[in-house]
Amino acid sequence: MTIQSFIPPHRILMGPGPSDISPQVLQALSRPTVGHLDPLFIQMMDELKQLLKYAFQTENEFTIAVSAPGSAGMETCFVNLIEPGEKVIVCRNGVFGERMRENVVRAGGIAVLVDDEWGKPVSVDKVEQALKDNPDAKLLAFVHAETSTGACSDAEALGKLAKQHDVLTIVDAVTSLGGVPLKVDEWQLDAVYSGSQKCLSCVPGLSPVTLSPVAIEKIQSRSTPVQSWFLDQSLVLGYWSGEGKRSYHHTAPVNSLYALHEALLILKNEGLENAWQRHREMHNKLKAGLDKLGFKFVVDEESRLPQLNAIYVPEGIDEAKVRSHLLNTYNLEIGAGLGALAGKAWRIGLMGYAARPENVALCLRALEESLTQ
Ligand SMILES: *Cc1c(COP(=O)(O)O)cnc(C)c1O
Repeated sequence: MTIQSFIPPHRILMGPGPSDISPQVLQALSRPTVGHLDPLFIQMMDELKQLLKYAFQTENEFTIAVSAPGSAGMETCFVNLIEPGEKVIVCRNGVFGERMRENVVRAGGIAVLVDDEWGKPVSVDKVEQALKDNPDAKLLAFVHAETSTGACSDAEALGKLAKQHDVLTIVDAVTSLGGVPLKVDEWQLDAVYSGSQKCLSCVPGLSPVTLSPVAIEKIQSRSTPVQSWFLDQSLVLGYWSGEGKRSYHHTAPVNSLYALHEALLILKNEGLENAWQRHREMHNKLKAGLDKLGFKFVVDEESRLPQLNAIYVPEGIDEAKVRSHLLNTYNLEIGAGLGALAGKAWRIGLMGYAARPENVALCLRALEESLTQ
């Protein structure tokens, strides 16, 4: 057998991520690699921090990209902020809320669950009750944009509630960053993590994380060391901060960081508000077409994420067959249902560079043709 270079087809990625990547970002990725302590690279990283602060709408000094995918950003927040024995209120309304619970338990914390139905946002009233019932809780963890269902929770209300009860928040913004309003400082969120491959439309493998000064204080006053060496942010701090100089922690994913810099620059040039508006408009276009085709959404209109559209598979349709038809005939990828929605729903992503009118039109045309076959 001779193995040749791998040349992937050009797919149109309209699933739950990774999303389509603009040619500009792919070009940035292929620029020459420099040393990760090269003064020019360090300058680029300082700009990257500025761009991330803008995307997160924060002045947090600690705003970086963890060198691993969104799940590592998640784990970073949990292992750094939880000390063994601490109580954490965890909101669970889909796959990623359950992962938060696992993270709490593995970090030695005690998870107090607030459950909501799949497809529903986190209930602010239930969280308030849980905070009253557990005055010794130290943290509140919730998913802003639950990618398994397409539900958007009220991060602003939850953030303010947490402050009233003097607990810190850990917020999953993997799918929300760049797609729907997220205002870290205004909403008083403490530890927020995201991913490069959803609405930022960058290559997978990086996880933007921002920590508030209060979160940093909690990390620095730990009585036990963070169990993970790689994710211990008190060690990473020396690499990402310190004006103009860096100390070695691990080899930065140099080219991926070029790509993230470019993707964030595209976002900044478009303007955050305009990006949010574009996601909303593309969602409205898609929704109008899906309504015409008779599809029903999993999530009620008021808490629907524009960038993740979960719709029920019509009665009597083999959902996997339709997805492979879309992939093979149209080079179009949409997502399958996850967890409780496996086999029952499709997830159509309109994330970042994928949220364009021609993609919406193609998706609707392809779905209609597949279903009439
Ligand atoms: C995709 C996703 C993650 C995990 O990100 P990876 O980059 O796949 O590790 C976590 N939370 C949510 C809400 C996601 O959509």
